[in-house]
Amino acid sequence: MTTAKCNDRVVGAILASWRYDISGISPEMRKDYEQHFLECARCRARQKFHRSLDGTLALLTSLSALFFLFALSVLKHIKPLEHVAFKTLGLDIEDTYHMLFSAGIAGLCFSVIALALVLTATPAPSYLGGIASERAKRFEESLPDAIRSLRPR
Ligand SMILES: [Zn+2]
Repeated sequence: MTTAKCNDRVVGAILASWRYDISGISPEMRKDYEQHFLECARCRARQKFHRSLDGTLALLTSLSALFFLFALSVLKHIKPLEHVAFKTLGLDIEDTYHMLFSAGIAGLCFSVIALALVLTATPAPSYLGGIASERAKRFEESLPDAIRSLRPR
């Protein structure tokens, strides 16, 4: 991250309080802040950092939800675990299964709630959507003309 100072401390402080997200304000008001991002390397770097943080959070919470789903789907098919629970730990198989199932459900609920919070409280959806559309555009440009002409307009 750059150590350069912000060239307009007032605007920099406002942007910092918004976590460098100007997607929520009106286009007329946005112009000044966009101009500041063009002029100020520090705020530009901070904005990039915060957006990648949001993207990472969204990715981690959705991965977490997926892993809990996977764990729930696997629960029924693991005989070795039943063996360990029954022989080594002396636990009842039913109880163990219910305990793991409850933990899986709780984890899944927590992950989904965390993902919902990340998607509503941060500009992650628009940030990730922007990346996706940019990648799609770049991919389309790399396609041969014959294939590109087949695409409906
Ligand atoms: Zn700045």
